[in-house]
Amino acid sequence: MEIEQRIQNVYRPVEERVKDENEVERRLSDIEIFAQAKRCSNCGIPFCHGAGCPLFNLIPEFNAAVAAHDVFRAYDILSKTSFFPEFTGRVCPALCESSCTRNLNDEAVMVRQTEKFIIETAFEEGWVEQPKAAESNGKTVAVIGSGPSGLYAAESLRRKGYIVTVFEKNPKVGGLLRYGIPNWKLEKNVIDRRIALLEKAGIKFICNTEIGKDISAEYIHRNFDFVFLAIGTTKARDLNIPGREAEGIYLALDFLHGSSMEGENNPKRFNAKDKRVLIIGGGDTGNDCVGKSIREGCKSVLQVEFLPKPPETRSPSTPWPDWAYQQRSSYAHHEGGEFLWNISSKRFIVKNGHVAGVEVIHVEWEMSPTGKPLKPVEVPNSTEILEADLVVLAMGFTGVPAEGIVNDLKLQLTPRTTIVSDPSRNIYAVGDCSNGPSLVVRAMASAKQVVSVF
Ligand SMILES: Cc1cc2nc3c(=O)[nH]c(=O)nc-3n(C[C@H](O)[C@H](O)[C@H](O)COP(=O)(O)OP(=O)(O)OC[C@H]3O[C@@H](n4cnc5c(N)ncnc54)[C@H](O)[C@@H]3O)c2cc1C
Repeated sequence: MEIEQRIQNVYRPVEERVKDENEVERRLSDIEIFAQAKRCSNCGIPFCHGAGCPLFNLIPEFNAAVAAHDVFRAYDILSKTSFFPEFTGRVCPALCESSCTRNLNDEAVMVRQTEKFIIETAFEEGWVEQPKAAESNGKTVAVIGSGPSGLYAAESLRRKGYIVTVFEKNPKVGGLLRYGIPNWKLEKNVIDRRIALLEKAGIKFICNTEIGKDISAEYIHRNFDFVFLAIGTTKARDLNIPGREAEGIYLALDFLHGSSMEGENNPKRFNAKDKRVLIIGGGDTGNDCVGKSIREGCKSVLQVEFLPKPPETRSPSTPWPDWAYQQRSSYAHHEGGEFLWNISSKRFIVKNGHVAGVEVIHVEWEMSPTGKPLKPVEVPNSTEILEADLVVLAMGFTGVPAEGIVNDLKLQLTPRTTIVSDPSRNIYAVGDCSNGPSLVVRAMASAKQVVSVF
């Protein structure tokens, strides 16, 4: 039997999608997904499940059910290991696909889109119900932070019969799912739909409440049996070079918030319309800033990255079934703009108090024998000025601020400024605040692992 090729085009046409803020991916048809699921060879040792997916999703099993057109069974299998497949089905980079056996000498099976298809079908068919809580054990839990790790911990504990309250400093629940990842990757009604089910299951959400400021963490610790810290790592890495104080230089989350806060707190100064935008940082966050600039009608957008361009195919430093170090193109790069690798920023050019560009120098990298960048070396006489009216710093996050909750509860931090759990005091850290800035799927998996011993 001839095996289908992997579908390459999963996006709506660029000309259409840049005019709105709806999800960039097109909806794949049932026929397309059934055929894609058939590409799974149900191999003896499924590395996608063990080495790839942090949630240990039963991927070959749900693929087999989808290939047999039994989506109800696929949903049943998927919901055994993952509570929020609608989030990962949209934004996961699909670590499983990198460790797919087919990926050894062919293109990986399309797992993420299949996951999305299963959960969206399940919602449409009315199969998704609120989580069933075990009989109450009378124990109370405060979950601080409502990103993917906090939500996962809340649902897991509620299922086990705990009385769960989630505290969130933002006006709405969702963490970076809502106030980071833009609408065109994850529409916010997808979060609201899930929160309604969690509320129905008896989980209480208290928003606009910052623990460590509005209520002391010590008070929460005294009044709840267990405290789960799921506060993320929103302390952005800054670029302290001359001229940083100029107007028009923004941290990525401030720039992106305008679009993901659905009209709330949408200051005009973050708007890229008619501006020459320069984005410093070549990762996912930077890519989303490109997407926002284009949607807002920027004059031009240039993204620069300090690191070298990864190889086009899997680097020997990350052999299969590891997550491959290789060049990946983002949806945003198909929408426009330019990208430069090996760029080090030296100073901001400031005119009348406002940023007018960045002076940069090109670098070359000394590489390890397996092709990992080791040390940058500045290229002589390669200084240039990149002109810009708006500069966005998208260089990642540095860890948890050592104030507020951390001070209140006298918590230990790792050298990477992530929080160390203290089970002797019933305090547990989950998600990015425990593991460092990472991915939605890893944040959820961390909560799943910690709650598994409860
Ligand atoms: C722009 C952007 C795009 C991204 N894109 C992707 C992607 O495509 N795919 C992917 O997998 N990952 C992506 N990520 C990463 C992903 O969003 C994070 O890894 C994930 O959200 C971490 O989850 P978390 O629950 O640990 O923390 P968060 O999502 O950061 O949630 C922490 C929550 O805690 C709240 N909080 C903090 N302190 C307090 C306090 N004192 N009191 C009360 N509440 C508090 C915060 O307001 C926040 O709501 C992206 C990140 C960014 C910034």
